[in-house]
Amino acid sequence: MAWRDFLELKLPERVLVFDTTLRDGEQTAGAALRPADKVRLAEALADLGVDVIEAGFPPVSLGESSAIKEITGMGLGAKVCVLSRCEKTDIDAAAKVEPEWIHVFIATSDIHLQHKLRLTREQAYEKAVSAVEYAKSYGFTVHFSAEDATRTELPFLLRVFKAVEEAGADSVDIPDTVGTALPLAMKKIVTEVRNTVKIPVAVHCHDDFGLAVANSLAGVEAGAEIVHATINGIGERAGNASLEEIVAALRFLYGVETGIKFEKIFRVSRLVEKLMGITVPKNKAIIGDNAFAHESGIHVHGVLGNPRTYEPVMPEVFGRRRRIVFGKHSGIHGLESFLREHGFTVDREKVAKILGRIKEFADSGGKVSEEIVLNYAEEVYGRRSQQRSYVKNLFLMLAGNVFKAQVDLMVAGELVTGDGEGASAVEAALNAVTNAAQRIADFEIIDYKIHAPFAGGQSSEAEVVLASGGVEFVGRGIGSDPSLAVVSAFTSAVHQLLFEQRRLETE
Ligand code: MN
Repeated sequence: MAWRDFLELKLPERVLVFDTTLRDGEQTAGAALRPADKVRLAEALADLGVDVIEAGFPPVSLGESSAIKEITGMGLGAKVCVLSRCEKTDIDAAAKVEPEWIHVFIATSDIHLQHKLRLTREQAYEKAVSAVEYAKSYGFTVHFSAEDATRTELPFLLRVFKAVEEAGADSVDIPDTVGTALPLAMKKIVTEVRNTVKIPVAVHCHDDFGLAVANSLAGVEAGAEIVHATINGIGERAGNASLEEIVAALRFLYGVETGIKFEKIFRVSRLVEKLMGITVPKNKAIIGDNAFAHESGIHVHGVLGNPRTYEPVMPEVFGRRRRIVFGKHSGIHGLESFLREHGFTVDREKVAKILGRIKEFADSGGKVSEEIVLNYAEEVYGRRSQQRSYVKNLFLMLAGNVFKAQVDLMVAGELVTGDGEGASAVEAALNAVTNAAQRIADFEIIDYKIHAPFAGGQSSEAEVVLASGGVEFVGRGIGSDPSLAVVSAFTSAVHQLLFEQRRLETE
């Protein structure tokens, strides 16, 4: 990075990742986890390498507290933390689920004190101190947050932090509760807090102005050693700071380590998306569909020559793959490489003709899929691609109350057949295509999504994500029916997987 030559930063060697996907993340409007899913996510987070898992807030519900209790009993590699107000009853409820960490908090800003808690500053100060003392008496590692810290008068904030340190708190946290801090302000606040207390300092940032990650990193620049974050940046309102963005920036821009295993990020992101029901935007850094996709001819040419021209980090680092998308911005080089991969010899005139048709179709508003490009290529070359993968037949049948499916797939020139059953046509089709694909490839199904419009005449779209050897393969398919779309997406993912294996074998 050129700026390394003129910028001097004093940074902690390692930053602790405090994951709050299961607490603040679950507070996202419309998100709720079944206890079993909460447990499953906790396991995935520990496996990802987060240091602390904030598992929830026991007083919320019976399901919540029993899920947390199960999580604390699992012996995960991460410390398990629970949230608690500065109330004895909350701390007692926390003790019942036996976490190692407790996160006690109280608001310190005048607006929260006057309009929410109806407490004076002195009352809040006393409550904070006695809650920390009481939590310590249980032997917890105590993490103390001054809610709305960035809107709290600084001398009062420092006085509270100093007092809770003396009461035994093990770390203090600066929440930017409504996301209104500037990076420079965050830096100043962290600096002041670090000059006041000796215990580690954390930051907890929200994205109301799109600054959550920038503010978290500014905190680290000023010496914060703990960062609160959520997978996919989910959380109240506009969300919390994105874990994946923070750890990637720390590692690849700052050179600061965390315990996160990068190659597992995408998988955990998909799991959170699915279980929380909060869709990740296409253009989201690191984990979005388009984070490693290229369409414009100029960019594709650059990336094919040397990926570093337009990719700051290789997609494989995050267990992902580059995606070349065809559309009106496509150029000759990307198309040539696609044609070679599909068994066509490159002929300038034919390539130009196919490119013309791609642009014409895109100009008319069409979405150019690989399927469409292959159709054009086969027409122009006057022969079928030997390597083509497609759905030859899909038979669906309702027998009593069970759906049965049988598929015949052509995968890279080989015919494979499979069958399956399910409670719905899609499930039966998915089981059949899995059964067929397992005959020729080793993989795990990570995720699938189907978009089936109600309007007649519109096609269904599906996406299937498979993993093999630590890399994800995303297949997309279109069909007149959701079952056909999902089978076609699956076939495309298996196709990519086989090509990748062949490429690795010949390397
Ligand atoms: Mn929060």
